[in-house]
Amino acid sequence: MQKKLPFTHTQIEDIIKTYPTPFHIYDEKNMIENAQNLQKAFSWNKGFKEFFAVKANPNPYLIKLFSNIGFGTDCSSLAELEISNKVGVKGNGIMFTSNNTTAEEYKRARELNAIINLDDISHISYLEEHAGLPDIISFRYNPGNLKAGNDIIGNPEEAKYGLTKEQLFDAYKIVKEKGITRFGIHTMVASNELNNDYFIETAEIMFNLIVEIQKELDITFEFVNLGGGIGIPYHPEDTAIDINYISSGIEQKYSEIITNNGLQDIKIFLESGRYIAGPYGYLVTRVLHFKDTYRQYVGVDASMVHLMRPGMYGAYHHITVLGKENESATHTYDVTGSLCENNDKFAIQRQLPELQKGDLLAIHDTGAHGHSMGFNYNGKLRSAELLLRTDGSVSKIRRAETLDDYFSTVDFGGVTDFS
Ligand SMILES: *Cc1c(COP(=O)(O)O)cnc(C)c1O
Repeated sequence: MQKKLPFTHTQIEDIIKTYPTPFHIYDEKNMIENAQNLQKAFSWNKGFKEFFAVKANPNPYLIKLFSNIGFGTDCSSLAELEISNKVGVKGNGIMFTSNNTTAEEYKRARELNAIINLDDISHISYLEEHAGLPDIISFRYNPGNLKAGNDIIGNPEEAKYGLTKEQLFDAYKIVKEKGITRFGIHTMVASNELNNDYFIETAEIMFNLIVEIQKELDITFEFVNLGGGIGIPYHPEDTAIDINYISSGIEQKYSEIITNNGLQDIKIFLESGRYIAGPYGYLVTRVLHFKDTYRQYVGVDASMVHLMRPGMYGAYHHITVLGKENESATHTYDVTGSLCENNDKFAIQRQLPELQKGDLLAIHDTGAHGHSMGFNYNGKLRSAELLLRTDGSVSKIRRAETLDDYFSTVDFGGVTDFS
């Protein structure tokens, strides 16, 4: 897929007069259009809902935009629950899919009346003890060797998430005996998956499981949450998934398995993050230095604290040099940040047009798991986040951190008295 930009070089030069580099900038128009297309694709299913995975991009302005078009939130921590609450997403608009959860988190999830999706059978009694049982409950299924995972999430048997099939039957039996009457079920076994059929197969496994559990335990499921994990074409050679193909494949399985077994009205939920926000973010950074040793290094003013994926997973993020979009890639560079860590590289041995000091680079696909994975190592500060609005204007939706933010957790008065 050809990697395009939603802004011009001139537009960015203009934005930089107000907001210095580095920053993440999000493309509202295409992001919302894609989100609406997802809803349209699944409109055959009454009650379909996408719960945006907040961890992918916890910016409240974006969460608000998504909630305006009918998305809920998928949360797994106290802060993510609070973000939902602050932007007005409450009750069954929140899916709480956590793991290794604290009592405090369960309490808050219950107060907000979120749908609780348990990651382990032992958490039934933990939830009951610390926050009380809700009237609707869901469990996360880990299919083990029934399904192959991928690199990011790993082999399901080695993944820390979810209940085994055997435990799942026990878990629903236990909560039924405790008086819970409303049920959902969840799984998430892939991350950044680009194979359309993978999602149809997952739905098939879940639909069959629902039929089996309903028959054995005589309980009725209200929803099946197929998780997130829909991939995006980071690499120009990748093919984007086809949401309409996935949806109609799932619709067919639904009719074969759910409808034909006399079940009905099971809502399909998704909790995608990357697919919703990923392709619509760009990290804009400026070339500061060149270094010519065993390799040609280009130092930019962003670093791994602004985008961790290349350093953490060796992930590919496409780079466009603004104003040189049509020049041929004649040079080979390692594009680096300034951390004292050699994996602080946005690109390794990447073919790019010849660069000059001051050139602006747009690093693609940073809308999900970009700014949100940021950290402060080496005293580096998190960048601003900007929103390129549908009308072409730019809104600052998060300022850059300052040194005062960095030092705000330390009382320096105490240091001077410290002996
Ligand atoms: C990370 C995560 C998601 C979102 O994953 P994407 O790859 O961004 O779609 C959804 N659900 C759970 C439980 C997750 O941990």
